[in-house]
Amino acid sequence: MKELLITGGRLIDPASGVDALRDVLVRDGKIAAIEKPGGFAALAKTLPKQFQIDATGCIVAPGFIDVHVHLREPGQTHKETIATGTAAAVVGGFTTVVAMPNTTPVNDSAESLAWMLDTARGSAVNLLAMPAATAGSMGERVTDFAALVNAGAVGFTDDGKPVLEDEIMRAALISAARLGVPVSQHAEDTRLTGGCSMNAGPVAFRLGLRGMTVEAESRIVERDIRLLEEIERAEGLRPHLHVQHVSTARALAAIKSAKARGLHVTCEAAPHHFTLTEDAIGEYNTNAKMNPPLRAEADRRALVAALLDGTVDCIATDHAPHASHEKEVEFERAPNGITGLETALGLALRVLHKDSGLPVSRVIELMSARPASIIGLKDRGAIIVGAMADVTVFDAGAEWQFRARDSRSMSKNTPFDGAAMLGQVKATVCAGRIVYRR
Ligand SMILES: [Zn+2]
Repeated sequence: MKELLITGGRLIDPASGVDALRDVLVRDGKIAAIEKPGGFAALAKTLPKQFQIDATGCIVAPGFIDVHVHLREPGQTHKETIATGTAAAVVGGFTTVVAMPNTTPVNDSAESLAWMLDTARGSAVNLLAMPAATAGSMGERVTDFAALVNAGAVGFTDDGKPVLEDEIMRAALISAARLGVPVSQHAEDTRLTGGCSMNAGPVAFRLGLRGMTVEAESRIVERDIRLLEEIERAEGLRPHLHVQHVSTARALAAIKSAKARGLHVTCEAAPHHFTLTEDAIGEYNTNAKMNPPLRAEADRRALVAALLDGTVDCIATDHAPHASHEKEVEFERAPNGITGLETALGLALRVLHKDSGLPVSRVIELMSARPASIIGLKDRGAIIVGAMADVTVFDAGAEWQFRARDSRSMSKNTPFDGAAMLGQVKATVCAGRIVYRR
């Protein structure tokens, strides 16, 4: 019998509505009991200290769940591996991450999925994956969704690219609906973004770069919503569209209206999009280059408002490591993406809680209960008796500076080197084991 005791903390569990001082007993990987402070005093006397976490002054929350990470393995292990990416995840308080399929080769078969999820890869957290929606993410032929769900897929995506063709997206939504999983869409009309490396607007004009318009994002979101309506009407199915890294007011408006009409649409926001604008590119800073790009201040504000009013369902990092030699090239040639697992909580609490008034419990919900429900995880995302013992202990008032050189990710491509963070993870427990302790 393996026991672990977390005492002295303020338990915030949005799923059960608890916000109170509570001690938590973990046994054999599950939440075994929750008591008022001191309720496990007798056990605390005998349990070895290495199996106890003193959470005094800290918040005890469900382990964070990130539905959008790039771990680069197989095939691009000079950027990151499953072991190093998940080592960074635990520092950020994440206990479950969902790997995107744009590895080399693309994760589009039950065999590659099984290889990725094998414990031999050395993941420090619960590793899940969304395989490719189309073979090779080429957008031409839908993969074998049934076989992939059997092998553990929690959804499908061609992330990095959109599923562009109407008929292919329709087929993907129908297959996924029959299996009860979402199709995650990277909403970018690539017919409008050829040769573009940032947001369209005055900054792109000044830098002499081709810009992506907001319509390139919103058009795909609007098209996908139309497909949902058509499928509901014609097939009697209820497909689930998950829109990845929404970055524009226009796409958010389309999502809000679709939700109001009762369609099953969810979406995620990335910390960089609610924290930064295109101004962060400065003089061609490739560590501020990602896709979708950093947008104008009006779009950033719309995203914060959508996080506050519930239009946005969850926070996802889009952790996208790249080696420095790959980023240290001219802006247009640099790859898209930044690391994000270690800065997500510190930015969410600073920008959404402190600056915008979002309650801490809602920040936690956006990082645990809501992402769990999007990918259908029934035993995670909550601290209730019987649930998996995935717990994040953090000091919500800690002010600190993130240093890229201290990152556990193999890559250091972040625009947040030296940035102020609010809230720091003190301990991360995954399946009843302490996987990180500060
Ligand atoms: Zn994407």
